[in-house]
Amino acid sequence: MAEPRFLLDGMLGSLARWLRIMGYDALYVRDASDADMLARLVGNDRTLLTRDRQLADRAGGRGLYLEEGELEGQLLTVVERFGLSTEGRMARCSACNGELEAVGKEAVAGLVEAGTLSGHAEFWRCRDCGKIFWQGAHWRTIRDRLQRVSRGPGSGPR
Ligand SMILES: [Zn+2]
Repeated sequence: MAEPRFLLDGMLGSLARWLRIMGYDALYVRDASDADMLARLVGNDRTLLTRDRQLADRAGGRGLYLEEGELEGQLLTVVERFGLSTEGRMARCSACNGELEAVGKEAVAGLVEAGTLSGHAEFWRCRDCGKIFWQGAHWRTIRDRLQRVSRGPGSGPR
């Protein structure tokens, strides 16, 4: 089965960023009309994630209404519905949703701080905006947060 891809409405910027960190294609569109959002579903297999129940209804089987107002609940809903992996993958740019490509140290020399360059072996570059990524100390924090989300609120097995 093809990996799920998403289209998120203007209220879901944080969720879009986290889906990208998890490695998923999450297109985020701000300030678009309902008609524009629906038009963006034509000709592709994206699922519309929205906080607008009417818009979700209008998208039919292609829309998912997110009841939760906060990020953790939204993430958990999407993770469970689509069976997403919360491992985290360097596949999508968290800033622009562009595809990441692995690049060698020589490609990022001069673009990142010397300490970052010497402290990491792997780097990635966004094909669209050029932003450079590496799995620094923050990556552990990100992974911890994803693990918490995948366990869901409260404790115990689900
Ligand atoms: Zn980018």
